[in-house]
This record gives sequence, C-alpha cells and structure tokens, in this order.
Amino acid sequence: MTHSPPRDTLERWVAGERVMPLPGRPDAGAPAISFEFFPPKTPALETQLWACVERLATLRPRFVSVTYGAGGSTQERTHATVVRLVQETALVPAAHLTCVGATRAEVDEVARRYWEAGVRHIVALRGDPPAGQAYTPHPGGYAYAADLVAGLKRVADFEITVAAYPEVHPQATSAAADLDNLKRKFDAGATRAITQVFFENTTFLRFLDKAVAAGITAPIVPGIMPVSNFVQAAKFCTGCGTSVPDWMADLFDGLEDDAETRRMVAAATAAEQVRFLQANGVDEFHFYTLNRPDLVYAIARILGVKPAAA
Ligand SMILES: Cc1cc2nc3c(=O)[nH]c(=O)nc-3n(C[C@H](O)[C@H](O)[C@H](O)COP(=O)(O)OP(=O)(O)OC[C@H]3O[C@@H](n4cnc5c(N)ncnc54)[C@H](O)[C@@H]3O)c2cc1C
Repeated sequence: MTHSPPRDTLERWVAGERVMPLPGRPDAGAPAISFEFFPPKTPALETQLWACVERLATLRPRFVSVTYGAGGSTQERTHATVVRLVQETALVPAAHLTCVGATRAEVDEVARRYWEAGVRHIVALRGDPPAGQAYTPHPGGYAYAADLVAGLKRVADFEITVAAYPEVHPQATSAAADLDNLKRKFDAGATRAITQVFFENTTFLRFLDKAVAAGITAPIVPGIMPVSNFVQAAKFCTGCGTSVPDWMADLFDGLEDDAETRRMVAAATAAEQVRFLQANGVDEFHFYTLNRPDLVYAIARILGVKPAAA
C-alpha cells in the first residue's frame, strides 16, 4: 500500500472542489417580513416590548403578531397589547388565538372583541393542554385549528394565519395526516401558514415540496428564531418537536457563560439560515423576536430590509 505524501497547504486548498457563493440578493428587492411578540407580564417587560416594537417598526413589517399564553392564560394581556398596537402605531397587528379549553361561544366572543377594536388578522391555533396531559377537545369547543378557522370566518372576515410543522406536529398520527390537516386549515379559510421553528433548511424545503404536491399554494412562511440562549432554546425545541442539530449544540458548546459570543454566533447562524432560504427563492420571513430587537434587526438588514427613509 502506498501513501501519498502530505500536500502543501495551498496545493491542498486549490485542489478542493470550489463552492459557489450565495447568489446576490434578488432583484425583486427585500423580502416581506413579520415579527412575533409576546404580551408582557411586568412593567419592566412592558417597557422592553414597546422599545422593541418601536425599533422593529422602522423595518415596515407586513404584520406583527402577539402570542396567546398557554391555554389562553394571557387573554387580557394579549388583547391589551394588540389593541395598543392598533391605537398607537401604524403596524398591522395579528392576534394569536387558541381554542383549547374554551367553548365556541367564548372563543367567538374574544374574536368579536378583536373585530370591534379594529383587528382584522388572527393567528388561529389549537393550543396545548397543561404539561403532562393529553389533548382532548373541549366538549363545547372547536376541536382543532381547522374548526377554529371555520368558526372565525363565521364571526367576521378575518385574515387568518395558521401553524405548519416542517418536522411534523408531535401528536400527528403521520406526516401525511399532518399535511392533510394543514390543507384543511387552508380550505377552511386560512391564507398563510407560519412554521414552527426549525434549523435544518433542507427539512423545510422538502416540506414545501410535499405541500405543493398536496395541492397547497398559499405561502408557508419560515418561522425564524435566532438562538442566543442555546440551553433555553434546546429545552423549548424538545417540547415542540423541533430537532436541535448536533452542529448547533457544538457551536454553543462551552459558551454557557459567554453571552456576548453567543449573540454573535446567533446572528451569524440565523443570517446563514435566512440567506440560504432567500437564495432558494423564499421571500417572506417571520421572526420570533422574544421581544428583543437587535438580532432580528441585524438579520433583516442582511436580507436587504432597510428602515423607512425619515
Ligand atoms: C407559528 C406558531 C405560533 C404559535 N402560537 C401559539 C400561541 O400564541 N399560543 C399557544 O398556546 N400556542 C401557540 N403555538 C403552539 C400550538 O398551539 C401548538 O403547536 C399546538 O400543539 C398545535 O396547534 P395547531 O394550531 O397547529 O393545531 P392543529 O392544526 O389543530 O393540529 C394539532 C394536532 O392535531 C392533529 N389533528 C388535526 N385535526 C385532527 C383531527 N380531526 N383528528 C385527529 N387529529 C387531528 C394534527 O395533525 C396535529 O398533530 C404556536 C405554534 C406555531 C407554529
């Protein structure tokens, strides 16, 4: 057996296959973006949220959404935040609304209050049961998100966004059944889906192929979560069925006490993720902001989104 002699550095570098650069940003211009916020619990968090809203508003998002705490636990805070967005900003708010643990009449009433307050966009979700319990529909409620979408459409002509799962919803009986469910949500009147957070772009792109093959044509917008607190994010992902790739664990390994470096790694990783998707034709992005603007602002800039001229 013969061994090739070790090659000199430059010879080794030029002998490798050349990787093409990501294409420049598309001529079509900056992508459409949207942001998710959560309703604040304390005065300090309230201040943080509105500072975040003010900064991100300059990027002219298509809409901004406000989450609904588990089991509807933030109903009043979500409502107050959404209504303040309507009254005090030029942003288009979308209120998240779940149907778990509530009667149809209760859910319809929440929706009616939104409509009367001038809110025209709902992110319609089933929601989750309390930790450790299996999901059972409320006897007088909307059983699944598709039923909720149909119910909301009966209340008023809302624009409706729903959830999609590139890695399959953890309680789905199969990937095909989960895709059928997504299709039912569109058939019931939703016009956009936002995905659960994911980190492997190929999983998302393959999911889009399957959605198109299933006859779905509405946008399935990638939900992007810049991860700087890896430990917390990994815990959240385990709960919602998102795989955390080994390469990501490796990137953050040993940075537990180094928040500054973690933020830089987070920005670079999320920028790489969105630029890859953009290069593959994706021109709408939804950002999970966690009510912190800086990373998201920088990543939107990298996508070509600039603040409105003063
Ligand atoms: C973008 C986004 C935003 C979110 N925002 C919130 C929020 O603000 N508040 C909150 O509490 N949660 C939120 N969630 C989490 C969401 O509530 C959970 O993921 C929940 O488990 C599923 O909600 P869904 O609307 O996707 O449910 P569904 O679309 O109803 O699907 C839930 C499961 O039931 C299955 N299924 C559907 N129909 C049937 C049927 N007829 N028979 C049997 N199985 C069926 C589906 O395949 C799936 O496995 C959000 C998730 C995403 C992706």
